Amino acid sequence: MSLKPIVMTPAYRYGAMTPWGGDTLKTVYGKDIPDERTGEALEFSALPGLNSTDAEGRTLTELIAQHGAALLGTQIHEPVPLLLKLIDARQNLSVQVHPNDEYAAKAEHKFGKTEAWFILHAEPGAKLVYGIRPGYDLAALRALCERGAAVEEALNFLPVKAGDAVYIPAGTVHAIGAGIVLYEIQQSSNVTYRFYDWDRKDKYGRGRELHLDKALDVTRLDVEPQLIEAELVGLNAQGTFERVLNTEYFVVDRLTRCADMQLITDLRRFGILTALEDGVMELPGEGIPLKAGQTAAIPADCVPVRLRGERFLYAYPQLGLGK
Ligand SMILES: [Zn+2]
Repeated sequence: MSLKPIVMTPAYRYGAMTPWGGDTLKTVYGKDIPDERTGEALEFSALPGLNSTDAEGRTLTELIAQHGAALLGTQIHEPVPLLLKLIDARQNLSVQVHPNDEYAAKAEHKFGKTEAWFILHAEPGAKLVYGIRPGYDLAALRALCERGAAVEEALNFLPVKAGDAVYIPAGTVHAIGAGIVLYEIQQSSNVTYRFYDWDRKDKYGRGRELHLDKALDVTRLDVEPQLIEAELVGLNAQGTFERVLNTEYFVVDRLTRCADMQLITDLRRFGILTALEDGVMELPGEGIPLKAGQTAAIPADCVPVRLRGERFLYAYPQLGLGK
């Protein structure tokens, strides 16, 4: 029997884990955040200790153990290859870089991390760090990093506004700037090498750990900062279907003005559907609300779903991931 979409309850990272976080996930999306400094809601996550759950409190890991390929898909294997977060940056996040699969396997026995961001809200003047400005080699970068704030002169800043999308392949130096709320889809990995933390200190006067050697090992100097242009796939009375990203690890579609749009599902892989404004998933005989900021796991073997609502993002893994 086909499965229904599963509306997920997030796990949170907060307090001392995310000293840069705020309370926007509560004030804008009504989330039940555990702390006034909550940086991350892990909406679709099978990370150990940070699993998202269904309405009955079953973890994503338990749901996959129960449903197997009907949930994950016939061509997706554990560990679950994708992770989806909403991030509230009241302050700047640390400047960081992630390794690719090859380096992460060697150095950490884990997967690497390629990610992408969709800006949900940006205060005027808000910007990201994306890559290193031309003219700096790794030796120059190391010398600047050793002088703390001096490294800021080498960082490339990218102004953003709501609706912008940015792709961050492994090896790209990056940071989310203050005043930005975003959707992040990524390889399910937590390997992060921190370059610089804006000389921030905790209440004991200590900075967070930096990992300069590994960070410089994996940094690519050849990534050009760019905003992504979505490709229009379909436009009709049911709504507008755009492909925003089609990358090595994940695909992300944007579905807008959905009047009665058939959600495309695929027995080979699961999907992750996020409402950016209040919407409804219409199933045979019932409607399941998906509020702004909520995410549903879409099983590979799913009952027919038709969407109503202004804006959704729909992410799914490339085939064969997770081996
Ligand atoms: Zn990152």
